Amino acid sequence: MSEGDAESHSHGGHSHGGHSHGTTKPLREERRPPRDDVEEIVPGILRIQLPISLPGLGHVNCYAMEDARGVTLVDPGLPGPRTTLALRKQLKSVGLALRDVHTVVVTHSHPDHFGQAGVLRQRSGAEVITHRNFRTFLDPESEDDDFDLDVGVTSSDRTAELADRSKAMVAAARNTPQRHGPLSSQTPWGGSPYMLPRSRQLKYKVMQFTAGRLVATPSPTKRVVDADVLQLGNRDWVAVHTPGHTVDHLCLYDPNDGIMISGDHVLPTITPHISGMGETSDPLGEFFSSLDRMKTFDQVSTVLPAHGLEFNDLGARAMDIKEHHFERLDTLREASDELGQGTVEQYMRSLFAERSWGAMAESETYAHLEHLRLAGEAEADESGAELRYSFG
Ligand SMILES: [Zn+2]
Ligand SMILES: [Zn+2]
Repeated sequence: MSEGDAESHSHGGHSHGGHSHGTTKPLREERRPPRDDVEEIVPGILRIQLPISLPGLGHVNCYAMEDARGVTLVDPGLPGPRTTLALRKQLKSVGLALRDVHTVVVTHSHPDHFGQAGVLRQRSGAEVITHRNFRTFLDPESEDDDFDLDVGVTSSDRTAELADRSKAMVAAARNTPQRHGPLSSQTPWGGSPYMLPRSRQLKYKVMQFTAGRLVATPSPTKRVVDADVLQLGNRDWVAVHTPGHTVDHLCLYDPNDGIMISGDHVLPTITPHISGMGETSDPLGEFFSSLDRMKTFDQVSTVLPAHGLEFNDLGARAMDIKEHHFERLDTLREASDELGQGTVEQYMRSLFAERSWGAMAESETYAHLEHLRLAGEAEADESGAELRYSFG
């Protein structure tokens, strides 16, 4: 769950890796449209680029690995028939079909990564593997949401029943009073609405119901924790829990060949969005720890990210990303000299270029301010309508 200036931004949101905003820079590789051909990046690991239309991202990499039982997919793209078609076409080009998919691994709970998991579960009975903390952005805070669909709902009776319930819930959500007035915010800092409002979450679910057989909310069939080993594609993969971008982010490490499937945790030229709206108090601190951990995998020679091309300097890239956030923390310290006590929005304006201003930038600013507050550097004043931060 994350949100941006355009709502579709949200679920995978990523931001620039640096502060410069030149207009003549080449298109970052993560922003390029998907390649048409399936490429074998290392022996036995195919890269399928699937289309996505999220601001700042042109494609998502789905990695396919064959073994005697069929094929495993890591991060099967956005929900919806467009992606299903693209996936089917690409698999077909290498002699595979959707029904060959026996396992789907989802690196984290953003729709461009988990999207087709439900469909694949329906079509082929695929196992759906996630980290133990996996939540979909639709129900970020409730795991026991009785509104969740099981995948495999095909009965029209059941679908109609759920659609009725969903309408009732949308109506109920609309009538729920908001905290600060009509356009109000549910953000902890008093900024503009950042998460999908509950009513919109429900609308999204209604859309899913109308999609009938294409219901895509994945229910993991297997949840793993750090250091669990998965045998997939004739390799042993070690699950590496890397919270920060999301609480459930998972990387997969093959120690034999030095391969890391890095999801959104470490991307080649952009940095993943760090949301202040997560379930933990210091997502940025967790992200730093998860980045530091990358240095310990010094046998890694190939990094396979969820967006952009493969690269090989995992530890160095992780430290670059950390450095980027350190610079942001410095910028906040400097901004506080001028602002004295500043709102999250004011700090955001000093941190981001104007074209990026919005709820997503506010959320990331909030994560940075909270990190400094928890480190004892900043203080938060909650007495007014909006949170205000000052530095000691
Ligand atoms: Zn993501
Ligand atoms: Zn992503």
